Amino acid sequence: AAKRAGRNAYAIFDPTMTMSVLEEAQQRADLEHALEHDEFRVLYQPVVDMNTQRVTAVEALVRWQHPRDGLLGPYHFIAHAEANGLIVPLGRWVLRQACSQLARWRAESPAAAGLKVNVNLSARQFQYAGLVDDVAAALADAGLDPASLTLEITESMLMADITTAKETLHALRRLGVRLAIDDFGTGYSSLSYLKQLPVDVIKIDKTFVDEVHIDEDDVALVDAVAGLGQALKMQTVAEGIESSEQWDTLRRIGIDHGQGYLFGRPVSAGDIADLLEQPESVKHL
Ligand code: C2E
Ligand code: MG
Ligand code: MG
Ligand code: MG
Repeated sequence: AAKRAGRNAYAIFDPTMTMSVLEEAQQRADLEHALEHDEFRVLYQPVVDMNTQRVTAVEALVRWQHPRDGLLGPYHFIAHAEANGLIVPLGRWVLRQACSQLARWRAESPAAAGLKVNVNLSARQFQYAGLVDDVAAALADAGLDPASLTLEITESMLMADITTAKETLHALRRLGVRLAIDDFGTGYSSLSYLKQLPVDVIKIDKTFVDEVHIDEDDVALVDAVAGLGQALKMQTVAEGIESSEQWDTLRRIGIDHGQGYLFGRPVSAGDIADLLEQPESVKHL
């Protein structure tokens, strides 16, 4: 069982571990407390144009500023929140933060005029019947045009219940938001199915990027996804670019956008504002 006692209550969550009813109740109470006491933070990571290196979007990535354990990444709490359902209010909070933050950047700087924001959805959020209303409300309250928001979902979320997934995607599309498939290549979506979905962006998983500059097989795979993107009129983003060799290879293949430590780590909203004012600082974040 996951050890509640000791200082490692929020070790990386391993879904194969079983938690006692008491442990589960404690996790839930901790997360509820954190939500009520504003302990979550949103960091933003730049997504850049592969050719110009200009920041075209930022991805919202949640953190938990834990009073005892410090700043915790999503792998420490998202699975717990997913299991107990708190991901729905937490995800709604991230969505609302991201929308209002984009509106704030735009109000503060003309450099943010064309900027977009990406928000990750979890499986449970995607299945939640109030999702489309939540998204519409977040956009309206922030005064944001829907096309400025891209929602990221994974292949497994689409495959779990294809019929409902399709309906939800079309409802979101009718709102006018953009849709991205995250971690592409790690799931099992069939090509014929992908063709029917109103998806705008394919995000190629980092595992294909890691060795793309030295492994011909990865070049072939990424090249195939670039072709797929072109055929289906979907934009491509490569995730997890850390070196200029990877960048160079991916740009030659024709990948549209890139994201990774080479261009910028996830940073605070204030740091993004600075970066928009001084784009040349991208490399030094
Ligand atoms: P993701 O959506 O695929 O996000 C990209 C992850 O890769 C982020 O990790 C980011 O910090 C990391 N990353 C980006 N560039 C590089 C790089 O060059 N090298 C390396 N080693 N890593 C890089 P993070 O922030 O720890 O988030 C992990 C995952 O947690 C996300 O993967 C996403 O699935 C989930 N997540 C994050 N925020 C949220 C949220 O608000 N809601 C939900 N449902 N899930 C979230
Ligand atoms: Mg993502
Ligand atoms: Mg990803
Ligand atoms: Mg990932």
